[in-house]
Amino acid sequence: MPIIIDGKQTSAEIKELLKKAIEQSSIKPKLVVVLVGDDPASATYVRNKEKACDALGIAQETYRLPASTTQDELLSLIHKLNNDNSIHGILIQIPLPKQIDERAVLVAINPDKDVDCFHPSNVGKVVLGQAALLPCTPAGIMVLLKRYGIDPQGKEAVIVGRSNIVGKPTALLLLAKNATVTIAHSRTTNLTEVTKRADILIVAVGKANLITADMVKPGAVVIDVGQNWKETSEGRKVDGDVDYAQVFEKTYAITPVPGGVGPMTIAMLAHNVCIAAGISVPTIL
Ligand code: NDP
Repeated sequence: MPIIIDGKQTSAEIKELLKKAIEQSSIKPKLVVVLVGDDPASATYVRNKEKACDALGIAQETYRLPASTTQDELLSLIHKLNNDNSIHGILIQIPLPKQIDERAVLVAINPDKDVDCFHPSNVGKVVLGQAALLPCTPAGIMVLLKRYGIDPQGKEAVIVGRSNIVGKPTALLLLAKNATVTIAHSRTTNLTEVTKRADILIVAVGKANLITADMVKPGAVVIDVGQNWKETSEGRKVDGDVDYAQVFEKTYAITPVPGGVGPMTIAMLAHNVCIAAGISVPTIL
């Protein structure tokens, strides 16, 4: 029977460890989130982050700025937050409105407070294997693998998707654990041929049911990062990128959606806030 990798449970365990570490520390960690505009999905993500921080004892403040905010206004807020020693983590919720250059904003955050790990200097440290702060979703995937005893060393790992947020950094973290890594993307010819090689298949595309049973090697570990929302008669539902019903039986282990990778992202954000604050946290990676 395939193993269902439980991200909800793992995330709860990580958060419990962090809560204890925070309680035992004299440092009160603080995260500031900046939300520009009124994108409903972003607003939901921010509310979830607020709730998680509250539950863990992380002080949290959200700046909700109008969609008309200029780049200069946002940069001057970031400058102020960078210089405030009571703040350990700064998170700018993306996407940003069109008039703001995302790259200019992300590069303005003090790398030591860059808890999303989007700053080029932190990305560079991930490349070099010298990072203190790790990108949240990729780090969450690595924690899931570790907790379920799946050692990437010597395995063929295929990542479908090459975004800066998920695909590329996940490839780097797997490489650091000695996997043989292939990254596939929208221009990959014969995706099935590539995915069928994978002992560990990670899918981060954003297309429901892209991965079908014929694309998966028997006994593979399948990690589904995709979150594809749809309206149903029973309300909003989320599907992954993997046709779970079809693929499940072929796997050694698989993450469900929801309840797989999703809950790990916030746990790893909280982990980064603790590290940025200088709190001693247990080794989870
Ligand atoms: P992006 O849109 O930035 O990247 C998608 C990637 O998929 C691109 O590299 C693209 O290729 C590739 N792609 C698109 N179509 C195909 C195809 N038919 N075959 C192979 N590759 C394809 O997405 P993100 O990385 O930001 O997110 C991916 C998914 O993960 C989304 O559903 C998102 O909601 C989810 N997500 C979940 C998180 C979580 O916490 N669980 C966190 C972040 C994202 P190309 O580069 O050539 O265009």
